[in-house]
Amino acid sequence: MSSSQVQSIIQRQRQYFASGKTRSIDFRVAQLHKLKDGIKALEREILEALRLDLGKSGFEAYGTEVGLIYEEINHALAHIHGWTRPRPVPTPLVHQPSLSKIHPQPKGVVLLISPWNYPFQLLIGPLIGAIAAGNCAVLKPSEVAPKTSAVLGLLISRSFSPEFCAVIHGGIAETTQLLKEQFDHIFFTGSIPVGRIVMRAAAEHLTPVTLELGGKSPCFVDQDIDLNVTARRIVWGKFTNAGQTCVAPDYLLVQRGVKNDLVTMMKKQIAELYGTDPMGSPDYGRIINEHHFDRLLRLKGGSIVCGGQSDRSRLYIAPTLIDHVKMDDNIMEDEIFGPLLPILTFDTLDEGLALAKQRPNPLACYAFSKRAAFSDRIIDELPFGGGCVNNVLVHLGVPGLPFGGIGSSGIGAYHGEQGFQSFSHLKSILKSPFMFDLPLRYPPYKKRLRLMRQLMR
Ligand code: NAD
Repeated sequence: MSSSQVQSIIQRQRQYFASGKTRSIDFRVAQLHKLKDGIKALEREILEALRLDLGKSGFEAYGTEVGLIYEEINHALAHIHGWTRPRPVPTPLVHQPSLSKIHPQPKGVVLLISPWNYPFQLLIGPLIGAIAAGNCAVLKPSEVAPKTSAVLGLLISRSFSPEFCAVIHGGIAETTQLLKEQFDHIFFTGSIPVGRIVMRAAAEHLTPVTLELGGKSPCFVDQDIDLNVTARRIVWGKFTNAGQTCVAPDYLLVQRGVKNDLVTMMKKQIAELYGTDPMGSPDYGRIINEHHFDRLLRLKGGSIVCGGQSDRSRLYIAPTLIDHVKMDDNIMEDEIFGPLLPILTFDTLDEGLALAKQRPNPLACYAFSKRAAFSDRIIDELPFGGGCVNNVLVHLGVPGLPFGGIGSSGIGAYHGEQGFQSFSHLKSILKSPFMFDLPLRYPPYKKRLRLMRQLMR
């Protein structure tokens, strides 16, 4: 698409937004229904595209992408009237009898940019918040998952007029071009370096941003656990989508006394979930492309205790456990984003926390323990986006929990009401009646300072 075509779409969206059509709650509800119906009509194509792009099984693609989106849409439809209603806040005595309210307002025309690893839900998820809040949207899916991007284009063009929502396809060049345009909010999901590029571009127009980025998410394991359940949940969370999940446990920090038993149990779980040859499992995904395959095979450190097999022609890397890893090994530098699980040990939780704090604030963190004191300390002392106790990944399936990072793992959050708020301007309005006009605040003030002090104490 030429830059003049892109500008024309944005211009038409501006006019459409200015017409006020997107402000009506009935309109927003109707669009959310259209989106849901459109997904239902294309569900088979979406699941097939996810299989072709990432080798996702139908079950996994439904559970982690399509089903999640239905839940988000249903949640938005159930709550939109409450979210959009002006919300009263207490008014201080000195301003009585006025009323103070927060009026959520749509921002205007927003830009959504998404990555390839959950290419469907990471574009449509933010769109739900944008529509619920009454905005128009330009969507830029990831060129790295081309089949899913094509279905997303079809879904949006079938469901909406381009004045309201439009997909613009492309890679770096097209996104760079888009980022030169002025938007009223930019919602970006992707890597930390590109997050910086987006924020720099947004600064030119002082556009607010939501940045959903990544990081190395630790998973702490205490010795006081249910070993079987812990191993199964970690194996599932790490190897879903072949480890290409922004909130996957990146590495394990395990209490020394339980490490050997945990490794044995995780090996058993890998065999139970994916068979003795996971390459033949219809439930085990593939690496997105050769670039990421080669990147993963370059990661070094520790010794492989399970897996390690790979096949470039099939973009297959086996679920791999790596023991005896040290913080200065190169596998511990950046987010792994693949099916390699480094295992580090600690004796005391102080030591484990100190290791995790050597890395920038992660997007997620997990703690497995029967002792609340263990997980409470991790929650209180380690800065991270969000996470689970005795579970992994599933916190992001709860629409009531804001999902986002802290520091280098992101700025802002979404899901449920938080998604609505990210795409809304919270307009603060104080409304006064004419009938009572406190003479105190008008000059000449004379000796009223003492009275003012009492009122505003
Ligand atoms: P990416 O940053 O390479 O790409 C994301 C988007 O930015 C794509 O649409 C791409 O076309 C565009 N882009 C890429 N390079 C660009 C450039 N130089 N200028 C302008 N636009 C550019 O990320 P990715 O490889 O698609 O996804 C993996 C990353 O995303 C990981 O770091 C992962 O942690 C992160 N992620 C975060 C979340 C989250 O919710 N926080 C979810 C999924 C993935």
